[in-house]
Amino acid sequence: MTFKSVNPANGEILASFEEDVDYFSKIREAERTYNRWKTADIIERIRLTLNLANILEARKTELAKEISLEMGKTLKSATAEIEKCAVTAKYYCHVAEEQTRSVEINNYAHKAYYRYESQGGILAVMPWNFPYWQALRFAIPTILTGNVVLLKHAPNVFMSATTLEKLFMEAGFEQGVFQNLFVDIDKIESIVADPFIKGVTLTGSNLAGSSLASLAGKYLKKSVLELGGSDPFVVLADANIENAATFAVKSRFQNAGQTCIAAKRWIVVEEVYEEFLDNVSDKIKKLKAGDPFEADTDFGPVARLDLAEKIEGQIDYLVNKGAIKLISGVRKGCLLTPTLLELNRELSHSFTEELFGPVACIIKAKDTEEAIEIANETSFGLGASLWTQDLENGEKLLKKLNAGNVYLNSMVKSDASMPFGGINQSGYGRELGVYGLYEFCNVKSYIIE
Ligand code: NDP
Repeated sequence: MTFKSVNPANGEILASFEEDVDYFSKIREAERTYNRWKTADIIERIRLTLNLANILEARKTELAKEISLEMGKTLKSATAEIEKCAVTAKYYCHVAEEQTRSVEINNYAHKAYYRYESQGGILAVMPWNFPYWQALRFAIPTILTGNVVLLKHAPNVFMSATTLEKLFMEAGFEQGVFQNLFVDIDKIESIVADPFIKGVTLTGSNLAGSSLASLAGKYLKKSVLELGGSDPFVVLADANIENAATFAVKSRFQNAGQTCIAAKRWIVVEEVYEEFLDNVSDKIKKLKAGDPFEADTDFGPVARLDLAEKIEGQIDYLVNKGAIKLISGVRKGCLLTPTLLELNRELSHSFTEELFGPVACIIKAKDTEEAIEIANETSFGLGASLWTQDLENGEKLLKKLNAGNVYLNSMVKSDASMPFGGINQSGYGRELGVYGLYEFCNVKSYIIE
């Protein structure tokens, strides 16, 4: 089987990759390396991770170009992605030693403590929307705690995956600490089943997540899932409308709408609905969809033709079900210009798919209470954002929003220091923050009597 990396801006084939025939030899290499890596001093692991951060920073423009070519995001957002990876690597270098120290417990025993110990090989199945960020936010803490990583990246970003593996080597990591597996998904079961694989993680669609989770269940492997979202963006009557509108548009359309935590449903109370709508409409009309390499482009093509066609189909479906097209996008190849749809509450509730493209949905609520109800009428639960100038009341309302990450007067965004993940159909487990260090550790208790 041959995988192809295709430039979504023009359909050009950038590179081809043959499937790994003997992927088990990579797993065995990972196992041999693990037997040394697991005993490496944390200071040494931190030193290598810091090297990686510095390399990412030094080479960010070159790395970003490859990302933009391969999956269509703008050069400036690809550069920001690399910068965020470097910042995250440094964050973990800063906290890893302290956060992985043994924790002593005063109890009945002569001596009792627990330690975070590595487990072995962790399989990561990752998507193309943030080719570096998705892989590294998992890999960095997982490797720092002494595990080794096998990455099955999305085939349309295999060029970036290849470079990523080389960066680990350049940083001084031993071959086998971080390796790509260029395999089709029909090989995933045999990999999960391998006794050296101790855990699996997937970022992507619910379908893919559910499939991997069932294999993890079958072979009793720990799993972490970061799946889709349909994040609400709730605008209350006393919100700063200009600010809210700016971030609604930014959150929804950046990365051509291919972000799990994009503000996918704008829920606006009646009182300020028209004002907000006018404001976002003006902003949307000014967005420039086009060449990812031009400095004034807001977003480029979506990553693959089938994904562009899928979004078109979802828009048609919603319009057939009664959504009103307030701004009509057009598609040229993989490039989609922005669409704005007005949905009623029932349609918002019944549409359970993730809209992973430059399509905003706006829903009117009669008051705050109804806005919160609509916000929670989703099978997902990744992020949620609420806009009001009453900070005290706003903070109370955040407690009523069912999601893993809630934000007041800000778009939902991930940050190295804060645990990140979802509930319900958005998955389980956490990445980032200190939780990112622990997910694939054996929290081992020592009791000496
Ligand atoms: P997928 O979820 O299918 O792909 C993500 C990763 O999972 C890829 O590496 C993919 O490999 C792999 N994968 C797919 N099916 C399985 C499986 N059964 N078992 C194990 N691994 C699997 O996303 P798509 O690229 O097809 O996009 C489809 C939709 O998924 C999007 O429209 C969007 O809604 C959602 N999505 C959400 C993301 C998020 O961050 N929340 C990221 C990407 C997609 P391969 O490509 O080889 O099949």
